[in-house]
Amino acid sequence: MKLYTINTGYFKLDGGAMFGVVPKTIWNKINPADENNLCSWALRCLLIEDGNRLILVDNGNGDKQDARFFSHYYLHGDDTLDKSLAKYGFHRDDITDVFLTHLHFDHCGGTIKREGDKLAPAFKNAVCWSNKDHWDWAVYPNDREKASFLKENILPIQENGQLQFVDVNDGIDGQLGKTRFTDNIDIRFVSGHTDKMMLPQIRYKDKTIVFMADLLPSAGHMPIPYVMGYDMFPLTTILEKKSFLKEAQEGDYILFFEHDPVNECCTVQQTEKGIRPKDYFKLEDI
Ligand SMILES: [Zn+2]
Repeated sequence: MKLYTINTGYFKLDGGAMFGVVPKTIWNKINPADENNLCSWALRCLLIEDGNRLILVDNGNGDKQDARFFSHYYLHGDDTLDKSLAKYGFHRDDITDVFLTHLHFDHCGGTIKREGDKLAPAFKNAVCWSNKDHWDWAVYPNDREKASFLKENILPIQENGQLQFVDVNDGIDGQLGKTRFTDNIDIRFVSGHTDKMMLPQIRYKDKTIVFMADLLPSAGHMPIPYVMGYDMFPLTTILEKKSFLKEAQEGDYILFFEHDPVNECCTVQQTEKGIRPKDYFKLEDI
């Protein structure tokens, strides 16, 4: 088994929205804003070579929407999904599984591409993984989250026959639910950010690595009340963060950040203020 970081570029989001109730005087030191109050965030995906499967976890924004849509997000940087795959000798047609943590556009937008006036699979040899609860949540979105669930990113996955669902495990007694995905990968379910977001938890080189998606978008979000304004159920996020971070500290887990503009991975430690980052490093240095 081998893991590879797949950078697909950077985008910008409002710093206030990203840090919820945290005042700018504090978050601006963590991730400085530009003159429009926007901060830069990574679109960092993960490629897992597991036996004869090549599993891509999330795939960035893609490029289907028009210039007006993307003008709100200031895409920047030189990385693209194809360039990042090529760096390790892979092509998008080699991908066997596209694993979608959730269906917000900045996580699943690359799944479907525009081909002339048609919408076509961007990974033509892959199945695409979601779960039934999250799929229904995204296909019939609430008014608050609607702007993040774009029909053109989502519906063609099913129309093309690529959609597969994993079984949802809700967990018991306050424990987060987990489902086995492969011999080396479990899926954790969390529902504070959006319903039934899926976090891959991977056994790799005798370590446990968790792809954080939007439970902890960056290392700067580690203090418990630092919850994004985008989250549907912030108090649920708080419980999920507490429970996860305690387990991560006890188990010496490695956290892999999808949106942290600087830090790819970290371990955590108990401090007098709560659980905080310990060591920062890149995935390739594990
Ligand atoms: Zn999200």
